Amino acid sequence: MPEDRINSFRSGPDAQGRFGDFGGRFVSETLMPLILELEAEYDRARDDASFWAEMDDLWTHYVGRPSPLYFAERLTERLGGARVYMKRDELNHTGAHKINNVLGQILLARRMGKSRIIAETGAGQHGVATATVCAKFGLKCVVYMGAHDVERQAPNVFRMKLLGAEVVPVTSGRGTLKDAMNDALRDWVTNVRDTFYCIGTVAGPHPYPAMVRDFQSIIGKEVRHQITEAEGRLPDTLVAAIGGGSNALGLFHPFLDEPDVAIVGVEAGGKGVDDQMEHCASLTGGRPGVLHGNRTYLLQDGDGQILEGYSISAGLDYPGIGPEHAWLHESGRAEYVSVTDAEALEAFQLCCETEGIIPALEPAHALAHVMRIAPELPADHVICMNMCGRGDKDIFTVARALGVDISG
Ligand SMILES: *Cc1c(COP(=O)(O)O)cnc(C)c1O
Repeated sequence: MPEDRINSFRSGPDAQGRFGDFGGRFVSETLMPLILELEAEYDRARDDASFWAEMDDLWTHYVGRPSPLYFAERLTERLGGARVYMKRDELNHTGAHKINNVLGQILLARRMGKSRIIAETGAGQHGVATATVCAKFGLKCVVYMGAHDVERQAPNVFRMKLLGAEVVPVTSGRGTLKDAMNDALRDWVTNVRDTFYCIGTVAGPHPYPAMVRDFQSIIGKEVRHQITEAEGRLPDTLVAAIGGGSNALGLFHPFLDEPDVAIVGVEAGGKGVDDQMEHCASLTGGRPGVLHGNRTYLLQDGDGQILEGYSISAGLDYPGIGPEHAWLHESGRAEYVSVTDAEALEAFQLCCETEGIIPALEPAHALAHVMRIAPELPADHVICMNMCGRGDKDIFTVARALGVDISG
């Protein structure tokens, strides 16, 4: 290991895919060769300038990168403390950060000669991003989705179908995201030859957590450059919302070795982090266990049964968190807090009114934490939060929560 990386927070994972006690590869023997092949291909692609040149070209012309770093002037005035910047990843094609990663994995699939892409999705955002890029490249796309989620997320199911994807409702187990993941893994083992499994967050067996993080790190790399232009220095605090943790790690990773940059991940506190488990705060309210091929913090009951969790934001209700976050939490490099539905709703409205930006409910959680801390901080303190998605998809949920009838 090079001298300057010995004490680095950016050198992980190790060869087994571990971040301290977390991560790894907890998969069946039948899956192991697929995972190893993927790892070898990704290692080659990562060191190949032509791979990144193709990514850059698509990021620029298809996704619309770089996304702006925006100084939220009226919000800053209203909060009366720290200067608040928003990384505008909600302006990406498809309205969120997920496409950054999907593009990377699908370019990799093409290098590997795979013609069929499978994915699993809960709220449907990752499914839509995957169906989008598959349409662009003329690849067959199959999306596994819990039957319960298919009902709840009808607009996204329709989007995926418009984009040419096949949506498979999963009825095994309780018909939710966790069950859809299991079916996607089964499909992969059965159709090894032509199929690539595209995972939507920094979870799954190694190399997925590291690979997804690398693709999403474009967010933090751009922020480093943009905030240096705007303020002449690095930010004091970074804040991002956490479902599985990909938008957060994408922002955080390029700053992990900057000891003066404080890093805060915001989990979905739902109705409050207590024994009722009506939340999705895996770090602040869960325990370590194994799910989806890696060891990490999970929502589970006393018997180790994985719990579903709850949040007003469908995109945050993943029962686990990426293993690198579990390690950043235990090592103390990053701080993890939770924000309730009510706090996120308040932040959602404030963002609309003061900045003319309708945020997704996920980044509204990050903003709610900014609202807590900014007033207490000095006027020269710089906060960058990740506005990782736009809120068009959430207006029905918000209307219901505010008791407004918009059914017409
Ligand atoms: C999917 C999604 C999330 C949660 O996923 P992460 O991997 O934690 O980023 C957050 N925000 C938006 C807008 C999403 O679509």
